[in-house]
Amino acid sequence: EVVIDRGLVEWLTPEEIEQRSKRQGIRFDDQVAVVTGAGQGLGRLYALELAKRGAKVVVNDLGGARDGSGQGSSTPADKVVEEIKALGGEAVASYDSVSTPEGGEAIIDKAVEAFGRVDILINNAGILRDKSLTKMEASEWDAVMSVHLDGAYNVTRPAYIKMRENGYGRIIVTTSAAGLYGNFGQTNYSAAKMALVGFMNSLKLEGEKNGIKINAIAPIAMTRLTEDILPPDLSEKLKPEFVTPLVMFLCSEQCPVTGSIYNAGMGYYNRAAIVTGPGVVLGDGQTIPTAEEIARNSKNIASLEGAAECYSITAALGDMLNAVGKPVLKT
Ligand code: NAD
Repeated sequence: EVVIDRGLVEWLTPEEIEQRSKRQGIRFDDQVAVVTGAGQGLGRLYALELAKRGAKVVVNDLGGARDGSGQGSSTPADKVVEEIKALGGEAVASYDSVSTPEGGEAIIDKAVEAFGRVDILINNAGILRDKSLTKMEASEWDAVMSVHLDGAYNVTRPAYIKMRENGYGRIIVTTSAAGLYGNFGQTNYSAAKMALVGFMNSLKLEGEKNGIKINAIAPIAMTRLTEDILPPDLSEKLKPEFVTPLVMFLCSEQCPVTGSIYNAGMGYYNRAAIVTGPGVVLGDGQTIPTAEEIARNSKNIASLEGAAECYSITAALGDMLNAVGKPVLKT
């Protein structure tokens, strides 16, 4: 039997976390955090909370319109920096766009110039260009891809290089229920958001030996991005503040997980995962089964009873090798 590494997580009690941590509670003293798209909405709240808990923060925002159009403005990022300073915290603004490699480099350079290091990166910047597929122009596809997906590559790569030097890092990518489950009129956004899960899945493996953990958050909250999408009567319940505590935990030294996806909204927190069913082996491993045999066995092939997560491609391949080593199913 092939032994499969499922990336076991050591869950600790709150008391054990306290004991093991060098810090009391969740603190970010002496740490430097970069939050993209932090001029408003969720990113602003992450930046404020990180600063309240001791982090020095780079508040990045190009200050564009909801669809990413327009000249941009330094005002949203500057305002958040002022808010942090008023609370006695430390922060600098960055107005670069995440959507180019140069922009990503400039954001991380800003952190290093101002504060000397990078410990935390929250990839949060986002735009929307909703259209059903046939109405969606290539420009609308590209704009969404370049902010969400290219943006994560552009900023994470230089940040990761800095984190690796220190043997420590926490990275968040922002996915979405639209990508995880689907939403009408958002093929561009959903594709970008699910691509970030793939990005995380592989980067978690690269980060392991460098003390770098990467997790994905799927928020649901009333912001400029969602004010005409989410039901208005839920706006009180959908306070973006509810998302922040989970993100703080995932950014902390105490975070035990890497490569996980969490939903957060309205005070409800859960984990989403890609699971793989046990499946069936058809034939003797020599003869190729027919499409009709697949059809006859389709219910068993599709079954998720006893499904499990695979921590990496090696685990998935291990399951496959173990399965084909077992007695074959009569077709
Ligand atoms: P928001 O519009 O309030 O904030 C997004 C910020 O990103 C804006 O200030 C915008 O100026 C900035 N931004 C856009 N393009 C940028 C770029 N190229 N470079 C730098 N900054 C840029 O939206 P929000 O709801 O706070 O969204 C934050 C993240 O959460 C996004 O990635 C979004 O897709 C994701 N998300 C939000 C929800 C929700 O319910 N609000 C749901 C799922 C996912």
